[in-house]
Order: sequence, then C-alpha cells, then structure tokens
Amino acid sequence: MLNHILNHLGEDRAAHFGAVTPPIYETSNFAFPSVAAMRAAGKGEYDTHFYTRGNNPTTAMLRAKLAALEGTEDALVFASVAAAMAAGVLGCVRAGEHVVAVQKPYAWTRVLLRDALPRFGVEVSFVDARDPRDVERALQSNTRLIVLESPNSLTMELQDLGAIAALAGPRGIRTLCDNSYATPLLQKPAEFGIDLIAHSATKYLNGHSDVVAGVLCGPRALLQEIFKGPLMTFGAILGPFEAWLILRGLRTLEVRLERIAATTARVIEFLQDHPRIERIYYPGHRDDPQRELALRQMRGGSGLLSFTLKCESLAQVERFCDALRCFLLAVSWGGHESLVWPMAVVLSGEHRPNAPVPWNLVRLSIGLEAPEVLIADLRQALDRSEIPQSDEAGQ
Ligand SMILES: *Cc1c(COP(=O)(O)O)cnc(C)c1O
Repeated sequence: MLNHILNHLGEDRAAHFGAVTPPIYETSNFAFPSVAAMRAAGKGEYDTHFYTRGNNPTTAMLRAKLAALEGTEDALVFASVAAAMAAGVLGCVRAGEHVVAVQKPYAWTRVLLRDALPRFGVEVSFVDARDPRDVERALQSNTRLIVLESPNSLTMELQDLGAIAALAGPRGIRTLCDNSYATPLLQKPAEFGIDLIAHSATKYLNGHSDVVAGVLCGPRALLQEIFKGPLMTFGAILGPFEAWLILRGLRTLEVRLERIAATTARVIEFLQDHPRIERIYYPGHRDDPQRELALRQMRGGSGLLSFTLKCESLAQVERFCDALRCFLLAVSWGGHESLVWPMAVVLSGEHRPNAPVPWNLVRLSIGLEAPEVLIADLRQALDRSEIPQSDEAGQ
C-alpha cells in the first residue's frame, strides 16, 4: 500500500509513452480547443489545468500522493511550509477572532501568530499545550483555530492530538498541526481528528536537501477555500520542477526513514550512557516525560534528536560542535546528511522569536551515513571538548 502510493499512485504511465518517471510539466499555462472548453476549465481551476499558479499536472501528482499518505481528502503544495502555515491560518480566521497556539512552535510560525495576526485584528493566546487542559482554559467564544506542532523540532514536546481535537470539534474550532517531525509514516494527525496537517517537505519528504517546499493536507472543502483565498492571491506556489524533485524523493521515503531511525537508535544508545551527556530529547525515549503519549500517538521517532551537554560554558558546547567532522554545521534537517545545530551557541542568548531552549542544547539530524562513523565522530568530539575547568577561567 505504502509502496503503491510512493511509486505508482497518480502516475498514468500510458499517457506518457510508458515513461517510468513522469515528465515535468514546465508550462505556465494551458491552451484549449474551443472557448467552451476554456470556459469549463476556468470554472474549476482547483481540479482543471488552466494556469500553473493554480494547478499543474506535476504538482497535482504530488498532491495526490501527499493526501493518500496523510489519509486526508486532498493536499495543497506551497513554496515553503511557512507559506502553507500562513495560508492555513488565514483560511480559518478573520478579524475579531481568536487563535490558541502552542508556546514553542517553529520560529517563523511564532512570528506569523505573534506579530502578523494581531495587525489584522486576530488575537492569539500561546499555551504550554502538553496538558490539553491548558488549551481548554485558553478557549474563548471567538476562538476559531488551534495551532499545534507535535513534536516540536528542538525539545520534542508533544500535544495529545486526540484530546485537543475532541475539545475543538464540538465547538466548531478548527485544528492545524505541523507534522514535519514525524512525516505521515510515523504519525497521522487526521486519525486523531486534526483538520489540517502541515509539512515542511524540505525535510524528510524530499530528503535530499535540495528543495524548500510546504504541504497542507485536509478536507477538500476547506482546502478549496484556502486555494481560492490565500493560495491564489498570495501565490506562494511550488514550481513543477520542485514538485518533481519531491516526487523523486518520496520514492525512497520509507527506506530512508527506516535506515535513519535504526541509525538514530544506535546513536542514542551511545549518547545516553556517555558521562558528558545530561539528558536526551527524543520522543518515546526513557528521558522523555511524555513517553507514554509518544508511544501511543506515534509509530516511532525519526532522526531528529537533541541533548544537553554536561559542561560549564557555551564555549565548551562550541568546541564540541567545531570538533565534529562528519556532522555538518547547518540548520534545517531531514536530509541525507547528518547535521548539528547548537542553537543557543549560534544565537548566543540573543532575543529570537523561538521560545527559550536550554543553553547547552545541541540538536542532531541523523542522515544516511554508517552508524559506526557517526558514533566515532561524536566520541572524538566529546573527548576533545572535555577540558579542565581551569581553562575556562574568565568565561
Ligand atoms: C523547517 C521547519 C519549518 C519551516 O519549513 P520551510 O519549508 O522552510 O518553511 C516549519 N516547521 C518545522 C517544524 C520545521 O522544522
């Protein structure tokens, strides 16, 4: 079933000379044999091919696969998930209404909610949504949307999706969840009653660190409204070539994730018993205070994990990251290459839109390299960054 979605669904090979890989429809518009045909196509741009800002055969193929993966009626694709989140939020609220959101979403989601929405008369309450009762307490008579991200991508905090969907549904409140961490393979929020599911396809869905893209999955009627509104008017669309690259990336999604999860388990095994590691942040790990929820709600963890380093100074965290040879120092995650992101060190405690994370937090994105190579690299970097306290004098 999964292989069918990833490798066959929506790919009508007979229409393309039997080509095993679909062509890229690099066309801005579509011509019609008659005015009547053009009139008919123009009426239903959501489904027909009229102009590529609306719909294109290559992106349509991707949309069909993404909807099937998430188990939703349909999916829309955008130039980034920042665009997808903005379109989803703007499609659900208007001036005078209220949004409840998780306290620590992705940085630019927070900027959207905290800075952009109030300018248009939408009020937002941020809550620590680990306990659904916090969400319930924040609801108002004008609340129209709850914005979630489970787990988040730094400290891996979860929300109980089923409990929150049950609070929202009967009150006519919509729910939107950023599901980038888990991918539809490890968590399907629609199964718990979540309305809209967003993905940064930049991460595992594409998986090759060569595309920035966003996805919004959900019920067809709501996506049609979002299509006619924010998608068509702001026009932050995904080009056919980028859609085609993601179609290619999806073919290996299952094997990449299997390999990455297995390597991540090995890396965690090494880290959790190392004397320099204070705490691991990984859904379902023994250090995870929400372990029971993670095991119930997710089919496992992916390759993104954080840990805090036992040390005295930011300089030591910096030395550890600089000593790594296989892990590239870079943001983003979910690609073929292993990455390290020492957030607090890079941002050096400055005010940033992100909610605070522990100063000694280091995030790793595990890629497709051999586990032994990654573990050896972590071991040598931990050894090299371990220096006597006296050397840190004055810091
Ligand atoms: C990377 C990331 C985003 C942003 O993705 P873009 O496609 O660059 O907009 C949003 N949410 C989460 C959880 C992310 O990790």
